[in-house]
Amino acid sequence: MRAEDILAPTPAGICCKLGAFHIDPTRPVERALITHAHSDHARSGHGAVLATQETLDLMRLRYGENFAGTAQAVRYGESVNLGGAKVTFHPAGHVLGSAQIAVEANGLSIVASGDYKDFSDPTCAPFELIPCDVFITEATFALPVFRHGDPRGEIAKLLHSVALFPERAHLVGAYSLGKAQRVIALLRQAGHQAPIYLHGAMEAITSYYASRGIALGELRVVRGATKAELAGTITLCPPSALSDLWTRRFPDPVTAVASGWMRIRARARQHGVALPLVISDHADWSGLTATIAATGAHEIWVTHGQEDALVHWCASRGLKARPLDIVGYGDEDDDDAKSGEDR
Ligand SMILES: [Zn+2]
Ligand SMILES: [Zn+2]
Repeated sequence: MRAEDILAPTPAGICCKLGAFHIDPTRPVERALITHAHSDHARSGHGAVLATQETLDLMRLRYGENFAGTAQAVRYGESVNLGGAKVTFHPAGHVLGSAQIAVEANGLSIVASGDYKDFSDPTCAPFELIPCDVFITEATFALPVFRHGDPRGEIAKLLHSVALFPERAHLVGAYSLGKAQRVIALLRQAGHQAPIYLHGAMEAITSYYASRGIALGELRVVRGATKAELAGTITLCPPSALSDLWTRRFPDPVTAVASGWMRIRARARQHGVALPLVISDHADWSGLTATIAATGAHEIWVTHGQEDALVHWCASRGLKARPLDIVGYGDEDDDDAKSGEDR
């Protein structure tokens, strides 16, 4: 049996005929297995959804109670038999509840990793390496120029700027699901104890993170705060809000953005970002290549991002590799802000 007989790319996403399910389908299907709650992977309208409890809760927060016909929660490490396929969810280290999905049938194992990072994150379970025959990987930052480095250094930069300009507000553009909460948790780990302010678009998801026991400290909403109160504070907002009239309520704001794209200086400049913070929830070039090698997979399927570079790297290592060309991934996540560029 070939891998393609177990999982095959279709216009609706990766499909397992044997188990009658799709993984992260981009169109409504009968049964969907969802790796994580970012909007390009988790869509509403499926008949049945199997995902971690956190992913289901986050989908419910975003899409409402009727986000799917039925929903079934699965724990990390728990296996479920679907038709002739055994599926197991493992931590992906990307955002709260994110999972890699291992599909096994006829002695062959395929891991669909969704989005992942192999770097520690106080807001989610760490990435787990799953040995497999075929590894399906994203390629968001799959160019050697992308080296994310240690996010603690970036947080130190932000705190240094806050100390330097106590009369100004600091606005940090970060995606509402995952990145914003990670930045807050990192600020707390760095010893920043002052209340942190939130754009309204982040309230619900951030309270959900806090309800799951993630230490985020005292949070306040910007709504109703006076200009004077906001001096010397840090506010998290969707990146698109940085160019809104909304920013006028802040005293002489310093704008920052937390994203893997901030490695590209020209990009930061082009968006008028004074303080680029290289903090990513995706593996960088060395993370992607090290992970691929460590899985022991002899065949690599590449979903979204810089597929060509990664496919080329695999070929140079004697690995069979192919891009999956699924349309619809990568416009991750900012429902509330429609900026179209998460990460
Ligand atoms: Zn994602
Ligand atoms: Zn993605």
